[in-house]
Amino acid sequence: MDKRIKALYTITIIAILSFLGMQVYWLYGRYEFSLTEYERDLAEQIVECVDEYNHIREKSSDQRSDYLKKQNQSDDVLTVPTFSLRQEYGDTVKTTRTAKILTYLFSAHELLGLEPGTPLTKEQKDKAMELVQTNLTTAADSLVFDASGAKDEKEAWAATSNVQIERKCPFRVEGLDSILTKAGITALTTLTNADSTVWNSMVDYHKSALNPTLSVTIPYSQLEGRIATITCEINPFEVLPGMWLTLMITLAVSTLLIVCLVLQFSTVLKLSRLDKMRNSFISTMIHELKRPISTLKMCVSGLDNERMMEDAAVKHEVLSETRNALDNLSAYFSKLRDITFNNVEQIPLNIQSVNLHELLDTVAAATVFPADKSVIIKNNISPEVEASADRSHLYNILNNLVENAVKYSGKSVEITATASENSGNAELHIWDNGNGISSGDLKHIFKRFYRGKASAGEQPGMGLGLAYVKLLVEAHGGEIYVDSSEGKGSCFTIRLPQ
Ligand code: ADP
Repeated sequence: MDKRIKALYTITIIAILSFLGMQVYWLYGRYEFSLTEYERDLAEQIVECVDEYNHIREKSSDQRSDYLKKQNQSDDVLTVPTFSLRQEYGDTVKTTRTAKILTYLFSAHELLGLEPGTPLTKEQKDKAMELVQTNLTTAADSLVFDASGAKDEKEAWAATSNVQIERKCPFRVEGLDSILTKAGITALTTLTNADSTVWNSMVDYHKSALNPTLSVTIPYSQLEGRIATITCEINPFEVLPGMWLTLMITLAVSTLLIVCLVLQFSTVLKLSRLDKMRNSFISTMIHELKRPISTLKMCVSGLDNERMMEDAAVKHEVLSETRNALDNLSAYFSKLRDITFNNVEQIPLNIQSVNLHELLDTVAAATVFPADKSVIIKNNISPEVEASADRSHLYNILNNLVENAVKYSGKSVEITATASENSGNAELHIWDNGNGISSGDLKHIFKRFYRGKASAGEQPGMGLGLAYVKLLVEAHGGEIYVDSSEGKGSCFTIRLPQ
């Protein structure tokens, strides 16, 4: 990878990660907001449930007084609570406010001077209540509270009334729970006594976004400092549905952007690879063409030399070299032409019966091997094995495989060829003891312009040889595959119809 592409790759990765990070941060913020909204709604519902329960308690405390009266021989006992609020002012500023609840007990019959047990008429009852108001002297029970925290007189009066309600109908966890359950809220309620007077409800929002818990504290008897704490565990998945549209849009936009970036980067990479391939193709083409052209140049100068041409043997050699060089050029151009065909059916074939043993011998004899390598070709193909093929194409196939076996090997090369006949096909195996092919390269080596990672820099080539071989094999209706292990060698197998 060149420097610019490396930089682009790093920038792309940083851009994707930063974008994802920002998206996660933004989504988290959105989730926190939705969670707080959800908790606010839930807290409101809880407060409504407590209000409803207080209302029920208030009603039942009224009924309970009537019931108590009845229990205490009905008309005879009158229980009268009186409330008083004492406010002290220093100049014009209020300094203290004290709430007092006094409870008086009277016997109606005693007040009216009647025999105990005499049934009372409505008028007698009203008269007894009237007399009570003028006889409030000795209280049976007295409660005094500091009500300075109340925001106004109304709140202080409401708080004294709550004390009365609590005395007649105490706040019960089960009572509130049944109302919460009816409203679909699962919560844990605990009743406690606060050290100081609590006047206002308090909502404690989640501390952890992953495991959120909402806690609502409601004073149900402010003057006595009695509070109910309702705690709800929130399932984050209950909050997510409210965000599904945001989530979907974010996911779609993120995917689109990431796909865009990845595509852009892979296109740049592809273009750069193509550029490299083009350069390597041009330099290899120049290199490949140079050889036959310089041979031709030499031959032409030989032909121009009359003295040399007088020698029949030399003349014959020069002409044969000229023919070889021209054959090489022509083979090279056919290879280039064939490789550009997209459809194997376009390749012209002159099918005939070809003897594989004899053809390999021809290839081995004609191939020029590097002087610094010792090459042994073991032709173990049975002399009778034949394939139906275009001889020149099959020659090129074998030539490419043998040249590759030599090119991608050490100093001492051993190539073994075997063949077998199998259900109407001739199967040809070319083994070598060369470098072998890595598993990463193995699946790509038949692609055009693909060069093995290890060999690309060391050996000349365009990555067209095996693509060309495969194309020609397929044009014959055959198959080619390879078996290789790195460091040990490779075996190319060609199956051709007979
Ligand atoms: P080129 O030889 O120009 O690179 P080829 O298409 O002939 O192109 O081969 C593609 C790749 O397959 C080579 O670059 C090399 O890595 C690998 N290869 C081909 N034949 C052999 C072989 N006999 N042994 C090891 N590697 C091979």
